[in-house]
Amino acid sequence: MKLVEYEGKELFAKYGIPLSKAFGVIKNREDISKIKIDSYPCVIKAQVLAGGRGKAGGVKIAKDKAEAEKIMEKMLGMKMVTHQTAGKEISVDEILICESANIEREIYLAVTMDRKAGKPSLIACAEGGVAIEELAHSNPEAIIKIPVDPETGLLDFQARELAYALKIEKEVFCSFTDTAKKLCKLFIEEDASLAEINPLIVTKDKKLIALDSKVITDDNASFRHKEWDNIPDRESSEIEKEAKEIGINYIALDGNIGCMVNGAGLAMATLDTIKLAGGDAANFLDVGGGANVDQITKAFKIILKDPKVKAVMINIFGGIMKCDNIASGVTEAAKNVNIKVPLIVRLEGTRVKEGKEILAKSGLKIHQADSAWEAAKLAVQLAGK
Ligand code: ADP
Ligand code: MG
Repeated sequence: MKLVEYEGKELFAKYGIPLSKAFGVIKNREDISKIKIDSYPCVIKAQVLAGGRGKAGGVKIAKDKAEAEKIMEKMLGMKMVTHQTAGKEISVDEILICESANIEREIYLAVTMDRKAGKPSLIACAEGGVAIEELAHSNPEAIIKIPVDPETGLLDFQARELAYALKIEKEVFCSFTDTAKKLCKLFIEEDASLAEINPLIVTKDKKLIALDSKVITDDNASFRHKEWDNIPDRESSEIEKEAKEIGINYIALDGNIGCMVNGAGLAMATLDTIKLAGGDAANFLDVGGGANVDQITKAFKIILKDPKVKAVMINIFGGIMKCDNIASGVTEAAKNVNIKVPLIVRLEGTRVKEGKEILAKSGLKIHQADSAWEAAKLAVQLAGK
């Protein structure tokens, strides 16, 4: 799960990572006049799940109350496109107001999982800030990577070596090594897949402050983080949330062919096959290994909630679940749900002959295909453009 800046900063505070003073978070217009801002200039920041806000008008400085209120009015509800939103507009529903810092220097510091090494990796760069992506591209040697042992965390000598490599000023040297160790501790204990501070700044009066946060937690660890239940799910659409509740893996996509598949691997292959046939899937949907009538019915309902869907392709491999059981499930479910779009079914595996017979005799208008390729071509043709 991706956390917004102020939620990430709450975690930073828990681990003692130094922050600039925050005056509060605003979620609706009534709060604009109520927020108490103690000092100016202040900084007003859009709380969205994408970086690059600085360059997209999502980080503004206000010199007094009147200007702050004007910016807040404008920013709340604003639609934003940053270089990280893939051309999509995202709506600003929350804004954070904090103290403005006198920046002397911006550093990049993050912990992420290094899959190759099989352990966390601390990543740092002497020049942080809004241009870090360009720098990583043009001058990759400037990025320093340090492996972190998850049992010991970042060791003192590693933190010191990094501080020397980044030419950290003596006034903030200890604060820096301490912050680096704390960020690693946070990453490990909070089951994060990313914990990033960009920028970590040195102020003109020589203080180290984490000015921004980006934290992503690993959903697989949710069983040991009951506190995550209180964090709003900002990423999922309404349909995705519904699917999650009934235990179906569903991700909405941009195409017009609804897919129902058992197994994540087959689901991925199905999306590729549809693409190869010249079409685009409307969703990724894995009903799981033991799909029953109830789940298939629910999956149908979820797929058909998306108005973009112009055909449904079912691609099921009967292994432990036999094809005849699946076929009965599909026909039962299709009767329960009023399907107005073409339904293409490809069954393969145990008792496939019996399964196909059930579909053929069901009285429903089902297009049967003998292979995934045939099914995909048919789905693309019937869905149209
Ligand atoms: P993003 O990463 O989404 O662009 P940041 O929070 O990193 O957003 O802000 C972008 C830039 O705005 C920072 O690199 C910094 O220069 C400036 N900035 C952000 N917060 C503050 C602040 N509290 N005081 C002064 N400058 C800030
Ligand atoms: Mg940033």
